[in-house]
Amino acid sequence: MKKKTDVVVVGGGLGGLAVAVLLARGGKKVTLLEKSKHLGGRAHTTEVEGYHFNLGPHALYLGGAAGRVLGKLGVPLPGRSPGEGSFALRGNRLHAMPAGAVSLLMTDLLGAAGKLEFGRVMTGLLKTEAGELEGRSVSGWLDEHVTRAEVREVMEAFFRVSTYCADTSAMAADVAVEQFQLARKGVRYLDGGWSGLVRALAGMAGEAGVEVVGSAKVESVVREAGGIQDRVRGVRLADGTEYEAEAVVVAGGPRDVAALLPGDEVVAGWAAEAKPVKAATLDVGLSKLPKPRALFALGTDRPWYVSVHSAFAKLAPEGGAMVHVAKYLGGAEDSADEAELEGVLDVLQPGWRAHVVTKRCLPGLTVMNALPTRSLEKRPGPRVDHVRGLYVVGDWVGREGLLVDASLASAETVSRLLGTEAGARAA
Ligand SMILES: Cc1cc2nc3c(=O)[nH]c(=O)nc-3n(C[C@H](O)[C@H](O)[C@H](O)COP(=O)(O)OP(=O)(O)OC[C@H]3O[C@@H](n4cnc5c(N)ncnc54)[C@H](O)[C@@H]3O)c2cc1C
Repeated sequence: MKKKTDVVVVGGGLGGLAVAVLLARGGKKVTLLEKSKHLGGRAHTTEVEGYHFNLGPHALYLGGAAGRVLGKLGVPLPGRSPGEGSFALRGNRLHAMPAGAVSLLMTDLLGAAGKLEFGRVMTGLLKTEAGELEGRSVSGWLDEHVTRAEVREVMEAFFRVSTYCADTSAMAADVAVEQFQLARKGVRYLDGGWSGLVRALAGMAGEAGVEVVGSAKVESVVREAGGIQDRVRGVRLADGTEYEAEAVVVAGGPRDVAALLPGDEVVAGWAAEAKPVKAATLDVGLSKLPKPRALFALGTDRPWYVSVHSAFAKLAPEGGAMVHVAKYLGGAEDSADEAELEGVLDVLQPGWRAHVVTKRCLPGLTVMNALPTRSLEKRPGPRVDHVRGLYVVGDWVGREGLLVDASLASAETVSRLLGTEAGARAA
Protein backbone atom coordinates (compact mmCIF):
# COMPACT_ATOMS: atom_id res chain seq x y z
CA MET A 1 0.00 0.00 0.00
CA LYS A 2 1.29 3.51 -0.85
CA LYS A 3 0.43 6.61 1.16
CA LYS A 4 1.45 10.23 0.91
CA THR A 5 2.30 12.80 3.55
CA ASP A 6 4.59 15.85 3.91
CA VAL A 7 6.82 14.60 6.74
CA VAL A 8 7.28 11.15 8.25
CA VAL A 9 8.52 11.06 11.85
CA VAL A 10 9.99 7.68 12.82
CA GLY A 11 9.70 7.12 16.60
CA GLY A 12 7.10 8.20 19.13
CA GLY A 13 9.30 9.04 22.12
CA LEU A 14 9.33 12.59 23.47
CA GLY A 15 11.63 13.76 20.67
CA GLY A 16 9.44 12.34 17.89
CA LEU A 17 6.22 13.58 19.47
CA ALA A 18 7.62 17.09 19.98
CA VAL A 19 8.91 17.44 16.43
CA ALA A 20 5.61 16.11 15.06
CA VAL A 21 3.59 18.69 17.02
CA LEU A 22 5.90 21.56 16.07
CA LEU A 23 5.79 20.66 12.38
CA ALA A 24 2.02 20.09 12.31
CA ARG A 25 1.42 23.41 14.04
CA GLY A 26 3.61 24.95 11.36
CA GLY A 27 1.22 23.66 8.68
CA LYS A 28 2.84 20.35 7.66
CA LYS A 29 0.93 17.14 7.12
CA VAL A 30 2.77 14.82 9.51
CA THR A 31 2.66 11.05 9.98
CA LEU A 32 4.33 9.60 13.09
CA LEU A 33 5.23 5.91 13.04
CA GLU A 34 6.07 4.10 16.28
CA LYS A 35 7.10 0.46 16.31
CA SER A 36 5.84 -0.37 19.78
CA LYS A 37 2.19 -0.54 20.87
CA HIS A 38 2.52 2.48 23.11
CA LEU A 39 4.00 5.93 22.63
CA GLY A 40 6.68 7.43 24.87
CA GLY A 41 9.82 5.33 24.35
CA ARG A 42 12.05 5.76 27.40
CA ALA A 43 9.60 8.26 28.92
CA HIS A 44 7.13 5.44 29.54
CA THR A 45 5.61 5.20 33.03
CA THR A 46 4.14 1.95 34.37
CA GLU A 47 1.35 2.08 36.96
CA VAL A 48 1.10 -0.79 39.46
CA GLU A 49 -1.43 -0.55 42.33
CA GLY A 50 -1.27 3.24 42.35
CA TYR A 51 2.57 3.43 42.13
CA HIS A 52 3.88 5.26 39.07
CA PHE A 53 7.24 3.92 37.90
CA ASN A 54 9.27 5.75 35.33
CA LEU A 55 11.95 3.64 33.64
CA GLY A 56 14.35 4.39 36.50
CA PRO A 57 14.78 7.81 38.13
CA HIS A 58 13.76 10.69 35.87
CA ALA A 59 14.26 14.37 36.71
CA LEU A 60 13.59 17.28 34.37
CA TYR A 61 16.39 19.90 34.36
CA LEU A 62 14.51 23.14 34.81
CA GLY A 63 16.96 25.45 33.03
CA GLY A 64 17.43 23.23 29.97
CA ALA A 65 16.04 22.92 26.45
CA ALA A 66 13.29 20.49 27.47
CA GLY A 67 11.77 23.06 29.83
CA ARG A 68 11.99 25.68 27.07
CA VAL A 69 10.43 23.55 24.32
CA LEU A 70 7.73 22.00 26.52
CA GLY A 71 6.89 25.49 27.80
CA LYS A 72 6.63 26.81 24.25
CA LEU A 73 4.31 23.95 23.34
CA GLY A 74 2.14 24.52 26.44
CA VAL A 75 2.89 21.19 28.15
CA PRO A 76 2.26 21.47 31.92
CA LEU A 77 5.03 20.29 34.27
CA PRO A 78 3.29 19.51 37.59
CA GLY A 79 5.57 18.29 40.38
CA ARG A 80 8.22 19.52 42.78
CA SER A 81 11.97 19.88 43.10
CA PRO A 82 13.74 17.54 45.51
CA GLY A 83 15.32 19.27 48.50
CA GLU A 84 15.61 18.26 52.12
CA GLY A 85 16.69 14.87 53.48
CA SER A 86 19.85 14.43 51.36
CA PHE A 87 22.86 12.36 52.35
CA ALA A 88 26.16 11.23 50.94
CA LEU A 89 26.65 7.46 51.13
CA ARG A 90 30.19 6.23 51.82
CA GLY A 91 31.48 3.05 53.43
CA ASN A 92 27.86 1.89 53.80
CA ARG A 93 27.15 4.86 56.08
CA LEU A 94 25.16 8.04 55.59
CA HIS A 95 26.91 11.39 55.99
CA ALA A 96 25.47 14.91 55.76
CA MET A 97 25.55 15.98 52.11
CA PRO A 98 27.85 18.98 51.61
CA ALA A 99 25.21 20.92 49.70
CA GLY A 100 25.91 24.39 51.12
CA ALA A 101 28.18 26.26 53.54
CA VAL A 102 26.46 25.01 56.73
CA SER A 103 26.22 21.35 55.69
CA LEU A 104 29.84 21.49 54.51
CA LEU A 105 30.91 22.65 57.98
CA MET A 106 28.79 19.99 59.70
CA THR A 107 29.52 16.93 57.56
CA ASP A 108 31.93 14.20 58.62
CA LEU A 109 32.32 13.17 54.98
CA LEU A 110 35.44 15.34 54.60
CA GLY A 111 38.26 16.31 56.97
CA ALA A 112 39.15 19.97 57.64
CA ALA A 113 41.61 20.25 54.73
CA GLY A 114 39.17 18.42 52.46
CA LYS A 115 36.41 20.88 53.34
CA LEU A 116 38.62 23.83 52.42
CA GLU A 117 39.60 22.28 49.11
CA PHE A 118 36.03 21.23 48.35
CA GLY A 119 34.76 24.77 48.96
CA ARG A 120 37.44 26.22 46.69
CA VAL A 121 36.83 23.68 43.89
CA MET A 122 33.05 24.16 43.98
CA THR A 123 33.32 27.95 43.85
CA GLY A 124 35.71 27.70 40.90
CA LEU A 125 33.51 25.17 39.11
CA LEU A 126 30.43 27.34 39.28
CA LYS A 127 32.35 30.28 37.76
CA THR A 128 34.13 28.25 35.09
CA GLU A 129 33.40 29.09 31.46
CA ALA A 130 32.62 25.54 30.27
CA GLY A 131 33.57 26.25 26.64
CA GLU A 132 37.17 26.94 27.68
CA LEU A 133 37.61 23.30 28.75
CA GLU A 134 37.20 21.92 25.23
CA GLY A 135 39.48 18.98 24.52
CA ARG A 136 39.83 17.91 28.15
CA SER A 137 38.21 14.96 29.94
CA VAL A 138 36.50 15.18 33.32
CA SER A 139 39.32 13.17 34.92
CA GLY A 140 41.87 15.53 33.31
CA TRP A 141 39.99 18.48 34.82
CA LEU A 142 39.91 16.76 38.24
CA ASP A 143 43.67 16.06 38.00
CA GLU A 144 44.27 19.78 37.51
CA HIS A 145 41.95 21.09 40.22
CA VAL A 146 41.68 18.50 42.99
CA THR A 147 44.54 17.12 45.08
CA ARG A 148 42.73 15.18 47.82
CA ALA A 149 41.22 11.75 47.06
CA GLU A 150 38.23 12.35 49.39
CA VAL A 151 37.33 15.55 47.49
CA ARG A 152 37.77 13.90 44.12
CA GLU A 153 35.32 11.17 45.15
CA VAL A 154 32.64 13.73 46.00
CA MET A 155 33.23 15.72 42.81
CA GLU A 156 32.95 12.53 40.74
CA ALA A 157 29.65 11.75 42.46
CA PHE A 158 28.34 15.25 41.66
CA PHE A 159 29.33 14.86 38.00
CA ARG A 160 27.65 11.42 37.88
CA VAL A 161 24.36 12.63 39.29
CA SER A 162 24.14 15.59 36.91
CA THR A 163 25.28 13.78 33.74
CA TYR A 164 24.50 10.07 34.42
CA CYS A 165 28.00 9.27 33.12
CA ALA A 166 30.35 7.28 35.37
CA ASP A 167 33.27 7.12 32.94
CA THR A 168 35.13 10.32 33.83
CA SER A 169 38.13 9.51 31.66
CA ALA A 170 35.92 9.39 28.53
CA MET A 171 33.46 12.19 29.30
CA ALA A 172 34.27 15.65 27.88
CA ALA A 173 34.92 18.20 30.64
CA ASP A 174 33.22 21.12 28.86
CA VAL A 175 29.99 19.10 28.49
CA ALA A 176 30.08 17.80 32.08
CA VAL A 177 30.77 21.23 33.60
CA GLU A 178 27.97 22.84 31.61
CA GLN A 179 25.57 20.10 32.71
CA PHE A 180 26.72 20.43 36.33
CA GLN A 181 26.00 24.17 36.18
CA LEU A 182 22.59 23.46 34.62
CA ALA A 183 21.73 20.94 37.34
CA ARG A 184 22.40 23.61 39.99
CA LYS A 185 19.43 25.56 38.54
CA GLY A 186 17.18 22.77 39.83
CA VAL A 187 15.35 19.68 38.64
CA ARG A 188 11.73 18.61 38.99
CA TYR A 189 10.17 15.20 39.64
CA LEU A 190 6.87 15.07 37.76
CA ASP A 191 3.47 14.14 39.24
CA GLY A 192 2.26 10.88 37.71
CA GLY A 193 5.64 10.30 36.01
CA TRP A 194 6.93 11.19 32.56
CA SER A 195 3.94 9.57 30.82
CA GLY A 196 2.17 12.83 31.66
CA LEU A 197 4.46 14.51 29.12
CA VAL A 198 3.75 11.75 26.61
CA ARG A 199 -0.03 12.06 27.05
CA ALA A 200 0.08 15.86 26.75
CA LEU A 201 2.18 15.75 23.57
CA ALA A 202 0.07 12.94 22.07
CA GLY A 203 -3.07 15.01 22.74
CA MET A 204 -1.48 18.03 21.07
CA ALA A 205 -0.40 15.88 18.13
CA GLY A 206 -4.01 14.74 17.67
CA GLU A 207 -5.31 18.31 17.85
CA ALA A 208 -2.72 19.49 15.33
CA GLY A 209 -3.78 16.75 12.89
CA VAL A 210 -0.75 14.44 13.17
CA GLU A 211 -1.55 10.93 11.97
CA VAL A 212 -0.13 8.69 14.74
CA VAL A 213 0.36 5.02 13.86
CA GLY A 214 1.37 2.51 16.55
CA SER A 215 2.86 -0.97 16.02
CA ALA A 216 4.39 0.44 12.83
CA LYS A 217 8.01 -0.64 12.47
CA VAL A 218 9.82 1.31 9.80
CA GLU A 219 12.22 -0.95 7.94
CA SER A 220 14.03 1.47 5.66
CA VAL A 221 14.31 5.04 4.53
CA VAL A 222 13.67 5.20 0.79
CA ARG A 223 16.09 7.50 -1.02
CA GLU A 224 17.07 8.25 -4.59
CA ALA A 225 20.46 9.15 -5.94
CA GLY A 226 20.90 12.81 -6.80
CA GLY A 227 23.73 14.90 -8.27
CA ILE A 228 25.70 16.09 -5.24
CA GLN A 229 23.55 14.46 -2.60
CA ASP A 230 20.91 11.75 -2.36
CA ARG A 231 17.33 12.75 -1.68
CA VAL A 232 14.74 11.24 0.61
CA ARG A 233 11.61 9.77 -0.99
CA GLY A 234 9.87 8.36 2.10
CA VAL A 235 9.92 5.20 4.21
CA ARG A 236 9.00 1.55 3.93
CA LEU A 237 7.40 -0.36 6.81
CA ALA A 238 8.04 -3.96 7.82
CA ASP A 239 4.50 -4.83 6.63
CA GLY A 240 5.27 -3.46 3.14
CA THR A 241 3.38 -0.15 3.47
CA GLU A 242 5.19 2.81 1.90
CA TYR A 243 4.87 6.46 2.80
CA GLU A 244 6.02 8.99 0.24
CA ALA A 245 7.23 12.21 1.91
CA GLU A 246 9.32 15.31 1.21
CA ALA A 247 11.14 14.85 4.52
CA VAL A 248 11.84 12.08 7.03
CA VAL A 249 12.80 12.71 10.65
CA VAL A 250 14.24 9.69 12.46
CA ALA A 251 13.75 10.23 16.21
CA GLY A 252 15.53 7.12 17.51
CA GLY A 253 19.06 6.14 18.50
CA PRO A 254 22.06 6.05 16.13
CA ARG A 255 21.69 2.29 15.70
CA ASP A 256 18.04 2.74 14.72
CA VAL A 257 19.10 5.26 12.09
CA ALA A 258 21.86 3.01 10.75
CA ALA A 259 19.41 0.08 10.49
CA LEU A 260 17.13 2.21 8.30
CA LEU A 261 19.95 3.16 5.92
CA PRO A 262 21.90 -0.06 5.26
CA GLY A 263 25.19 0.49 3.48
CA ASP A 264 25.39 4.18 4.39
CA GLU A 265 28.90 4.62 5.77
CA VAL A 266 28.26 7.98 7.41
CA VAL A 267 25.39 6.81 9.60
CA ALA A 268 27.12 3.47 10.22
CA GLY A 269 30.04 5.53 11.56
CA TRP A 270 27.74 7.41 13.95
CA ALA A 271 26.38 4.12 15.30
CA ALA A 272 29.85 2.60 15.66
CA GLU A 273 31.18 5.63 17.53
CA ALA A 274 28.27 5.98 19.96
CA LYS A 275 29.05 4.47 23.35
CA PRO A 276 25.77 4.10 25.27
CA VAL A 277 25.53 5.29 28.86
CA LYS A 278 23.78 2.63 30.95
CA ALA A 279 22.29 2.26 34.42
CA ALA A 280 20.88 -0.54 36.55
CA THR A 281 17.75 0.41 38.48
CA LEU A 282 15.57 -0.97 41.24
CA ASP A 283 12.17 0.70 41.42
CA VAL A 284 10.25 0.02 44.66
CA GLY A 285 6.70 0.77 45.85
CA LEU A 286 6.35 0.77 49.67
CA SER A 287 3.20 0.93 51.80
CA LYS A 288 5.18 3.05 54.28
CA LEU A 289 8.57 4.75 54.43
CA PRO A 290 10.48 3.47 57.49
CA LYS A 291 12.57 6.68 57.76
CA PRO A 292 10.45 9.58 56.47
CA ARG A 293 13.30 12.12 56.71
CA ALA A 294 15.85 10.11 54.72
CA LEU A 295 14.88 10.97 51.15
CA PHE A 296 18.03 10.92 49.02
CA ALA A 297 21.51 9.41 49.08
CA LEU A 298 24.33 9.69 46.60
CA GLY A 299 27.18 7.16 46.71
CA THR A 300 30.63 8.71 46.73
CA ASP A 301 32.87 5.63 47.00
CA ARG A 302 30.48 3.61 44.80
CA PRO A 303 28.35 4.85 41.86
CA TRP A 304 24.99 4.54 43.64
CA TYR A 305 21.88 6.72 43.79
CA VAL A 306 18.71 6.37 45.90
CA SER A 307 15.82 8.82 45.88
CA VAL A 308 12.30 8.80 47.27
CA HIS A 309 10.67 10.47 44.28
CA SER A 310 7.21 10.31 45.86
CA ALA A 311 8.33 12.70 48.62
CA PHE A 312 8.28 15.47 46.01
CA ALA A 313 5.87 14.32 43.29
CA LYS A 314 2.57 12.45 43.27
CA LEU A 315 3.77 8.96 42.42
CA ALA A 316 2.40 6.73 45.20
CA PRO A 317 -0.92 6.17 47.00
CA GLU A 318 -1.57 8.15 50.22
CA GLY A 319 0.89 7.08 52.93
CA GLY A 320 2.99 5.01 50.51
CA ALA A 321 6.35 5.77 48.89
CA MET A 322 7.94 5.21 45.49
CA VAL A 323 11.72 4.88 45.58
CA HIS A 324 14.27 4.64 42.78
CA VAL A 325 17.64 3.00 43.43
CA ALA A 326 20.23 3.11 40.64
CA LYS A 327 23.80 2.25 39.83
CA TYR A 328 25.62 4.24 37.17
CA LEU A 329 27.40 1.76 34.92
CA GLY A 330 30.72 3.10 33.64
CA GLY A 331 32.05 0.43 31.33
CA ALA A 332 30.70 -2.42 29.19
CA GLU A 333 31.76 -4.91 31.87
CA ASP A 334 30.02 -3.04 34.72
CA SER A 335 26.87 -4.58 36.16
CA ALA A 336 24.65 -4.63 39.21
CA ASP A 337 22.28 -7.28 40.48
CA GLU A 338 19.10 -6.85 42.46
CA ALA A 339 20.79 -7.87 45.76
CA GLU A 340 23.38 -5.08 45.41
CA LEU A 341 20.71 -2.42 44.79
CA GLU A 342 18.58 -3.76 47.65
CA GLY A 343 21.62 -3.47 49.93
CA VAL A 344 21.90 0.22 49.01
CA LEU A 345 18.27 0.79 50.02
CA ASP A 346 18.98 -0.98 53.34
CA VAL A 347 21.33 1.87 54.24
CA LEU A 348 18.88 4.73 53.52
CA GLN A 349 15.67 2.95 54.57
CA PRO A 350 16.47 0.06 56.94
CA GLY A 351 13.38 -2.14 57.38
CA TRP A 352 11.96 -1.31 53.92
CA ARG A 353 11.60 -4.99 53.03
CA ALA A 354 8.64 -5.35 55.43
CA HIS A 355 6.65 -2.75 53.46
CA VAL A 356 7.13 -3.82 49.82
CA VAL A 357 3.98 -3.67 47.70
CA THR A 358 5.71 -3.98 44.33
CA LYS A 359 9.23 -3.75 42.90
CA ARG A 360 11.14 -4.37 39.73
CA CYS A 361 14.79 -4.48 38.75
CA LEU A 362 15.97 -3.30 35.31
CA PRO A 363 19.68 -4.10 35.14
CA GLY A 364 20.77 -2.54 31.82
CA LEU A 365 18.78 0.52 30.74
CA THR A 366 20.20 2.85 28.10
CA VAL A 367 20.02 6.28 29.65
CA MET A 368 21.82 8.10 26.85
CA ASN A 369 22.60 6.78 23.39
CA ALA A 370 26.05 8.33 23.18
CA LEU A 371 28.46 9.34 25.91
CA PRO A 372 29.70 12.84 24.99
CA THR A 373 33.44 12.38 24.58
CA ARG A 374 33.88 15.65 22.68
CA SER A 375 32.30 19.08 22.60
CA LEU A 376 28.60 19.00 21.61
CA GLU A 377 29.44 21.03 18.49
CA LYS A 378 30.82 17.77 17.05
CA ARG A 379 27.65 15.67 17.48
CA PRO A 380 25.83 14.56 14.30
CA GLY A 381 22.71 16.24 12.87
CA PRO A 382 20.00 17.29 13.14
CA ARG A 383 20.32 17.78 9.36
CA VAL A 384 21.81 14.76 7.59
CA ASP A 385 23.94 16.63 5.09
CA HIS A 386 24.47 13.89 2.53
CA VAL A 387 20.76 12.98 2.17
CA ARG A 388 18.51 15.92 1.35
CA GLY A 389 15.27 15.85 3.32
CA LEU A 390 16.60 13.54 6.07
CA TYR A 391 16.89 14.71 9.69
CA VAL A 392 17.67 13.06 13.03
CA VAL A 393 16.35 13.88 16.50
CA GLY A 394 17.56 12.41 19.79
CA ASP A 395 19.75 12.54 22.87
CA TRP A 396 22.87 12.04 20.71
CA VAL A 397 22.07 14.80 18.20
CA GLY A 398 22.93 18.48 17.75
CA ARG A 399 24.73 21.12 19.72
CA GLU A 400 22.55 21.58 22.76
CA GLY A 401 22.03 19.62 25.96
CA LEU A 402 22.15 16.07 27.26
CA LEU A 403 19.38 13.52 27.85
CA VAL A 404 15.89 14.75 27.00
CA ASP A 405 17.20 18.31 26.61
CA ALA A 406 19.13 17.12 23.54
CA SER A 407 16.08 15.28 22.16
CA LEU A 408 13.85 18.31 22.45
CA ALA A 409 16.49 20.83 21.35
CA SER A 410 17.08 18.77 18.20
CA ALA A 411 13.29 18.50 17.66
CA GLU A 412 13.04 22.29 17.84
CA THR A 413 15.95 22.74 15.40
CA VAL A 414 14.42 20.32 12.89
CA SER A 415 11.09 22.13 12.96
CA ARG A 416 12.91 25.42 12.29
CA LEU A 417 15.07 23.93 9.52
CA LEU A 418 12.14 22.24 7.81
CA GLY A 419 10.15 25.44 7.96
CA THR A 420 12.90 27.57 6.46
CA GLU A 421 14.21 24.96 4.01
CA ALA A 422 10.74 24.19 2.65
CA GLY A 423 10.11 27.94 2.44
CA ALA A 424 13.34 28.44 0.49
CA ARG A 425 12.41 25.66 -1.98
CA ALA A 426 8.96 27.16 -2.54
CA ALA A 427 10.41 30.64 -3.23
C1 LIG B 1 17.13 5.00 33.71
C2 LIG B 1 16.90 6.26 32.93
C3 LIG B 1 16.94 7.47 33.59
C4 LIG B 1 16.80 8.67 32.89
N1 LIG B 1 16.81 9.86 33.58
C5 LIG B 1 16.67 11.01 32.92
C6 LIG B 1 16.68 12.25 33.62
O1 LIG B 1 16.76 12.27 34.84
N2 LIG B 1 16.57 13.40 32.91
C7 LIG B 1 16.47 13.40 31.54
O2 LIG B 1 16.40 14.47 30.93
N3 LIG B 1 16.45 12.24 30.85
C8 LIG B 1 16.55 11.07 31.51
N4 LIG B 1 16.53 9.88 30.83
C9 LIG B 1 16.52 9.92 29.36
C10 LIG B 1 15.14 10.19 28.79
O3 LIG B 1 14.26 9.17 29.15
C11 LIG B 1 15.32 10.25 27.29
O4 LIG B 1 16.29 11.23 26.95
C12 LIG B 1 14.06 10.59 26.52
O5 LIG B 1 12.93 9.90 26.96
C13 LIG B 1 14.43 10.26 25.07
O6 LIG B 1 13.43 10.48 24.19
P1 LIG B 1 13.65 10.18 22.64
O7 LIG B 1 12.35 10.44 22.02
O8 LIG B 1 14.83 10.92 22.14
O9 LIG B 1 14.09 8.64 22.52
P2 LIG B 1 13.29 7.32 22.90
O10 LIG B 1 12.47 7.54 24.10
O11 LIG B 1 14.31 6.24 22.94
O12 LIG B 1 12.30 7.07 21.67
C14 LIG B 1 12.67 6.51 20.46
C15 LIG B 1 11.44 5.82 19.89
O13 LIG B 1 11.70 5.42 18.55
C16 LIG B 1 11.06 4.18 18.34
N5 LIG B 1 11.69 3.54 17.18
C17 LIG B 1 12.99 3.21 17.02
N6 LIG B 1 13.20 2.65 15.83
C18 LIG B 1 12.01 2.61 15.19
C19 LIG B 1 11.58 2.12 13.93
N7 LIG B 1 12.43 1.53 13.06
N8 LIG B 1 10.28 2.25 13.58
C20 LIG B 1 9.40 2.83 14.44
N9 LIG B 1 9.75 3.29 15.66
C21 LIG B 1 11.04 3.19 16.04
C22 LIG B 1 11.27 3.45 19.65
O14 LIG B 1 10.36 2.38 19.83
C23 LIG B 1 11.06 4.57 20.65
O15 LIG B 1 9.71 4.66 21.09
C24 LIG B 1 16.63 8.66 31.48
C25 LIG B 1 16.55 7.43 30.82
C26 LIG B 1 16.68 6.24 31.53
C27 LIG B 1 16.58 4.94 30.79
